[in-house]
Amino acid sequence: MLDATPDACAAQFAPLLQADYRDQDGLADFAARVDVATFDFENVPAESAQWLAERVPVFPSPRALSVAQDRLAEKSLFRELGIPVPEFATIDSRAGLDTALAAIGTPCILKTRRLGYDGKGQFRIKSPADADAAWEALGAQAGTVGLILEGFVAFQRELSVVAVRGRDGELRAWPLTENWHESGILSASLAPARVDDTLQAQALATARKVAEALDYVGVFALELFLKDGVLLANEMAPRVHNSGHWTIEGAETSQFQNHLRAVLGLPLGDTRAIGHSCMLNWIGTMPPAAPVLAESCGHWHDYGKSAREGRKVGHATLRAESGQELATALERVGRSLGREAQVAPVIERLAQSR
Ligand code: AMP
Repeated sequence: MLDATPDACAAQFAPLLQADYRDQDGLADFAARVDVATFDFENVPAESAQWLAERVPVFPSPRALSVAQDRLAEKSLFRELGIPVPEFATIDSRAGLDTALAAIGTPCILKTRRLGYDGKGQFRIKSPADADAAWEALGAQAGTVGLILEGFVAFQRELSVVAVRGRDGELRAWPLTENWHESGILSASLAPARVDDTLQAQALATARKVAEALDYVGVFALELFLKDGVLLANEMAPRVHNSGHWTIEGAETSQFQNHLRAVLGLPLGDTRAIGHSCMLNWIGTMPPAAPVLAESCGHWHDYGKSAREGRKVGHATLRAESGQELATALERVGRSLGREAQVAPVIERLAQSR
């Protein structure tokens, strides 16, 4: 593992080489010790991935990483491939913001092109009167990480497709997942999502187009908005994804296992779901484990991170044989932890699709 921080949680599982991602001595030391390199963090500098790729195989490729790191590059690629996307425009100046606002209309969201995650680096613009406040908040970053303005999509659902592509080009995807966010941070995921086969097939076709265009190797996720039967692509994550954490217990092969198989050139594992799963994220601090562990279908994951507001510190997955059984377990867990609001939308969806 290569990480800049001494307490990187991945160091619980493999030796840690502590160095900055841009430190060439650190990178050289790392390259000398590995047969193949990959990453589970998308803000690894693409130039560092490229430097490594000149010495050891790196999957996914530095090019795929650099496209996925830039909201403008990824949305432009989606559009080129004929994949529906929210309206968007690149913003270079305060005047440019006004022009884009007039073209896209409100509500919309101003986002940093690079280095934003979990709702960070975003400003929601409800009316043109918010333009000054938006520029005040993010304008300074126009010349550094860049800015993009996106039309606000009044979606009915947020879905994600997590897929894996092998070195030989074989592509497999897990069933679509439905996701709910709290303040821009993933709060709960339900898998398989309650969608028909047509939508599932559309999502898979979208994932295939993107993966083939980038000659992608490894696991990736596409975040999608469902609006009036159309799937719009929001963004791509070039790595194992939080909305795929349920696959650890809820699928024949987890996203982590298949990512490693892909980068090592091994056959990919079956991605079919086993039963019905709900993943609940623990954000800021870990709640008590007992209510989850008391469930026959409860699985607990503590990342060993220190508590910090807005930080993902762990998750739980409940997996059951039926949607009804899953809903009952979620109700008990929500009540015991005082997290009724977190489980409510999932229970509602399960009730609707009964
Ligand atoms: P992102 O960092 O782009 O994944 O944004 C975080 C969350 O903000 C998304 O999962 C959505 O819930 C919301 N969001 C982002 N972009 C849009 C958009 N264009 N329209 C509506 N909601 C959005």
